[in-house]
Amino acid sequence: MKFIDEYRDSEVIRSLLSQISEEAARPEGYRLMEFCGGHTHAFYRYGLLPLLPERVTMVHGPGCPVCVLPISRIDAAVALAAKSDVIFCSYGDMLRVPGSNGKSLLKAKAEGADVRMIYSPLDAVKLAEQNSDRQVVFFAVGFETTAPATALALQKALDQKIPNFTVFCNHVLTPPAMSAILDDGSMDGPSVHGIVGPGHVSAIIGCDAYRFVAEENHIPLVISGFEPVDLLESILMLLRQINAGKAEIENGYSRAVKDEGNPQAIALMDEVFELRGSFEWRGFGMLPDSAQKLSSKYADYDAEVRFGVTYGEAHDHKACRCAEVLRGQLEPEGCSVFATVCTPENPLGACMVSSEGACAAAYQYGRHVRGDR
Ligand code: SF4
Repeated sequence: MKFIDEYRDSEVIRSLLSQISEEAARPEGYRLMEFCGGHTHAFYRYGLLPLLPERVTMVHGPGCPVCVLPISRIDAAVALAAKSDVIFCSYGDMLRVPGSNGKSLLKAKAEGADVRMIYSPLDAVKLAEQNSDRQVVFFAVGFETTAPATALALQKALDQKIPNFTVFCNHVLTPPAMSAILDDGSMDGPSVHGIVGPGHVSAIIGCDAYRFVAEENHIPLVISGFEPVDLLESILMLLRQINAGKAEIENGYSRAVKDEGNPQAIALMDEVFELRGSFEWRGFGMLPDSAQKLSSKYADYDAEVRFGVTYGEAHDHKACRCAEVLRGQLEPEGCSVFATVCTPENPLGACMVSSEGACAAAYQYGRHVRGDR
């Protein structure tokens, strides 16, 4: 297939749904997780969930970088932004995520902080060049998908010896979170029977990064694209593997993903970042080797070092159940404040803010549809 409409062809979709129905024969059903928040939104946007047979349950994973950032780090970002000599730069999604007492970067901006929304870390480097009397801090958030762009900005800042640019690095890694879900002993039996693997992250890290899922956890994983045909084909491939008792890594998104990933991006990240010993994730607590920090070569550009960032104890709003949503243990509609107190206009938790958050997807596309199931 070459063109986007071929991935949305209704005849192909009908055929795939019919094959999925035939394949979904196990009485105990199939619990599949789409790890990536982009996939969650695609499932809701294209109305695919109600079309799946009853025996196939999709659960949403933690693949929303905005959602998994703990409140203590949002608070630290707000504190950095409040410094009088700082221009604080962030992607748009992060501005509205509530920290302690509902204080977000957007509220800090309303109180006078110089917070700017940017589209690329290179925009922050340019701002630093244009404002040599100010400190420009880039709030780096994201999985392996966005980390190479941050690395490129840092490389440019080092090459051009820009002294007033730093990065508040919060890049997290996909495999450790996947591992934490699969190793979750709190559930009766395996937490999921199969995983729809992320598309964009896999374009960077490649298929080989998931070998542990098949070899250690004995769970099949199929990397998927974001169109309806991609997603349904991935589900069908998972069901076939599960029925055959197989646990393999398959690539259903070969037009973008290679076994080895993107070697240039990986080399760039290896130069600029190093592993953190542990990092706190919303919903998961501290996960070992699950995030990146700046390597010693780039230590002068590390905002945590330059500004002596500290992290206080902070808790989610007591009504918010983002932690369970992120672990795939609760549907967004199961939260008592979903779509009543918590809405995209007035989010109580991060999952209602981000364009990749499960609660935002359920609110925007799915709550009426899901209610009909
Ligand atoms: S609906 Fe709102 S409060 Fe509830 S889990 Fe989702 S983001 Fe948190």
